[in-house]
Amino acid sequence: MSLNDQSLLQSKGYVNGAWRAADSGKSFPVTNPATGAVIVEVADLGAAETREAIAAADAALPGWRAKTAKERAAILRRWYDLILANQEDLARLMTAEQGKPLTESRGEVAYGASFIEWFAEEGKRAYGDVIPTFASNKRIVVLKEPIGVVAAITPWNFPIAMITRKCAPALAAGCTVVVKPAEDTPLSALALAELAQRAGVPAGVFNIVMGSNPAAIGGELTASPIVRKVSFTGSTEVGKLLMRQAASTVKKVSLELGGNAPFIVFDDADLDEAVKGAMASKYRNAGQTCVCANRLLVQAGVYDAFAAKLAEAVSQLQVGNGADAGVTQGPLINDDAIAKVEELMGDAVEKGAKVALGGKRHALGGTFFEPTILTGVTSAMRVAREEIFGPVAPLFRFETEEDAIRMANDTEFGLAAYFYSRDIGRVWRVAEKLEYGMVGINEGIISTEVAPFGGVKESGIGREGSKYGLDDFMEVKYLCVGLG
Ligand code: NAD
Repeated sequence: MSLNDQSLLQSKGYVNGAWRAADSGKSFPVTNPATGAVIVEVADLGAAETREAIAAADAALPGWRAKTAKERAAILRRWYDLILANQEDLARLMTAEQGKPLTESRGEVAYGASFIEWFAEEGKRAYGDVIPTFASNKRIVVLKEPIGVVAAITPWNFPIAMITRKCAPALAAGCTVVVKPAEDTPLSALALAELAQRAGVPAGVFNIVMGSNPAAIGGELTASPIVRKVSFTGSTEVGKLLMRQAASTVKKVSLELGGNAPFIVFDDADLDEAVKGAMASKYRNAGQTCVCANRLLVQAGVYDAFAAKLAEAVSQLQVGNGADAGVTQGPLINDDAIAKVEELMGDAVEKGAKVALGGKRHALGGTFFEPTILTGVTSAMRVAREEIFGPVAPLFRFETEEDAIRMANDTEFGLAAYFYSRDIGRVWRVAEKLEYGMVGINEGIISTEVAPFGGVKESGIGREGSKYGLDDFMEVKYLCVGLG
C-alpha cells in the first residue's frame, strides 16, 4: 500500500535499534480483513530473535534508567509529536490491517499517543516517601525504581493503543521493553518503532518481535530471568497461561483480559442517551473491544421502547471497507472471529432468542457481519457468559434493581460495566454493588489516559493509564539509614 511516508510500512522486526529479518528467512502475510488482500509479508521471528531482543533490552537498561525523568520525557514527547504528525498514515495502516473505520483509526492514533504525552510528564512525579522514623537514630526512606526489562504482549483490536498504554509508562519509569504485537496487526507496531527511532529512543530500549508462533516468543519472554515483568492484554485463556509460565521466575504480571460487560438501562434512564451510549459501547470497532457492552440488561418498563430506539440507530450503521468514506462498521478481524459470532447467535436463537435486526453474515461476504439485535435473551444462552466480540447486542429483560445487580455480577469477568439512571440514590447504590474495575454511569465510553483502566476477577490484574499505571512498572525500595 502507498503512504505519504513509505518508511512507515516496515516488514522486519525491530531489535537493538535495527530492522531484523528472521534467522530462518521465513515470513508470514499480513492481510486486509476488508479485502482479503495481502498488504505485506513480515519477518517470522521466533525464540532466538526474542532472546536477542531481551539481551538488547538488558544492555540498554543501565543507560536508559540513568537518564533523568526529564531527559526521558523529552524523547517521549518527540515520539508523541511524530505520531500525531503522521496520524493519517498510521490510521490508514491500522484500517488496512485491522479493519476499523478510518475515523476510529484516527481516534485510536490520538488516544494511543495520549499515553505517551501523559506518562512522559508523570514519570517526573515518581515520588518516593520519607516515613517518620520508629527510632531516633534511624531514618526511613522509600524509593521507586524501574522494574527492569519488560515484556509487552498485545492484541489486534487496538494495534497502537495497547502498545503505548504499556510502553509509555514503562519507558517513562526507566524500563526497557520487548513488545510482541498480535500477528494480525504487526504493521502499526512497526510504524511506532520507526517513529521511536526518529524520536531518539536509544537502541535496545524499545524492541519489537512478531511471529506466526506466539507461543515460541511468549515462552522465551516468560522463561527469561532477565525479563522482570510481563504486561499482557488479550484473552483470559492466554493470560492464565502466561501467568503460570511467569511463575517459574516470579515475575510481576499485569493482565488486561476479557470482559462480559453489562449495560443496564433502568426505567428512569434518559433513553436517547442510553441508546447513544449503547451504540458507542457495543458497535465501535464492530463490537471487538474488551469493554464492549456484552449484555444489555433492560428494565421491563422501557424494554420495548429501548429496543425500538436502538434498532432505529443500529439500522443507520454503514457496513463496508473501513477505508471508504461514510463507513461506520468494518469487517471482523478473521474467519475464526466470524465463526464464533455465528456459533453464539445460533445457540441463542435455538434457545428462543428473537432476531430483531440483522442476524447473519453481511451480503458483502468475507468477515462482514450484519449489525444485529437479539431480544428475549436469557441466562441459559451462551451470550450471557461468553464474550461475543462482534456487532451483536443481546437484550435481557429484568424487573427490579436487585435483579439487575445480581444478573450483572453473575459472571467470572469484571472489567467494565455501564448503567443509565437519573435517580441519584440508585446511581450510588448500583455503582457500589457492581463487581467491576470500571463503571460508566450515563456514559458508554470511559477509556482515557488519565484514569485507571483494568479489571477485577478473571478480567485481570493491575491498572493501565493514570498514576496507578506508572506504579505497575516500578518497584518499591526501602532504605533504613542508621545515623550511628
Ligand atoms: P489472544 O489472547 O489470542 O492474543 C493476544 C496476544 O497474545 C497476541 O499477541 C497473541 O499473539 C498472543 N498469544 C497468543 N498465544 C500466546 C502464547 N501461547 N504465548 C504468548 N503470547 C500468545 O487475544 P486476541 O484474540 O488477540 O484479543 C482479544 C482478547 O483480548 C479479548 O478477550 C479481549 O477482551 C481482550 N482484550 C482485553 C483488553 C483489556 O484491556 N482488558 C483490551 C483489548 C483486548
